[in-house]
Amino acid sequence: MCPQIHMPDSLEYQPVACAIVVNAAGAWAGKLLEAAGLPGGLAEPPLPIQPRKRYVYSWHCPDGPGFSCPLLVDTTGAYFRRDGIAGNYLGGMSPPEEEEPDPSDLSVDHDFFQERVWPQLARRVPAFASLRPRGAWAGYYDHNAFDRNGVLGPHPKLENLFLAAGFSGHGLQHAPAAGRAVAELVVKGRYESLDLRRLGWRRLAEGEPLEEDGVV
Ligand SMILES: Cc1cc2nc3c(=O)[nH]c(=O)nc-3n(C[C@H](O)[C@H](O)[C@H](O)COP(=O)(O)OP(=O)(O)OC[C@H]3O[C@@H](n4cnc5c(N)ncnc54)[C@H](O)[C@@H]3O)c2cc1C
Repeated sequence: MCPQIHMPDSLEYQPVACAIVVNAAGAWAGKLLEAAGLPGGLAEPPLPIQPRKRYVYSWHCPDGPGFSCPLLVDTTGAYFRRDGIAGNYLGGMSPPEEEEPDPSDLSVDHDFFQERVWPQLARRVPAFASLRPRGAWAGYYDHNAFDRNGVLGPHPKLENLFLAAGFSGHGLQHAPAAGRAVAELVVKGRYESLDLRRLGWRRLAEGEPLEEDGVV
């Protein structure tokens, strides 16, 4: 069985017959599945993957830790890394759940840096007390509200529908392994290099979250 998106008035979006679907639509993977209109029990469990707005701030601090510092994630969730070799850094922090920003646009909240992120950075690296903000931008985390981990592999009831999405802000790091794993599932019908069944879709149905990794 193959999900089809019905948009009868669109010349661009028309049903496509296919044998296998891999839903790798990132933050929009849940929306895409809803749009596919899976009937009855096949739509369960719903995919709890949503776009969450996150800010990245950039600053200059010639007295910062420089080459001696790797990517650092503070216990508060504030993180930063060096950006080049000219005393520049970038970083940010996720807001608490109850202060999630409206994801309908990608405007940046500069006060969030001043009031929430900067104090944590300066506590961790005293030189950052005198940093100079340079710029900022926003993007969407592919947030899995169930357990903040990627969902990988076949749908529990629809075995030719695969998912690789919901990596919740650590998808770049997971990308090489996730891509290879899904390719193995599609081509060989099983995991070969790494057994990633723990990341499977079934845990959503069974209500068994993976342990959160504490990543920002
Ligand atoms: C500010 C910020 C900082 C981050 N920092 C890090 C980090 O330090 N380390 C890290 O590992 N990760 C980080 N991430 C997370 C990382 O970017 C994501 O986890 C990763 O990009 C997810 O990859 P993906 O291929 O699953 O989804 P995406 O890269 O989002 O790709 C999904 C693609 O699907 C397309 N698409 C969506 N809907 C449809 C549709 N209906 N039809 C056709 N195409 C569609 C989209 O256009 C997009 O090209 C960060 C994210 C943000 C926003």
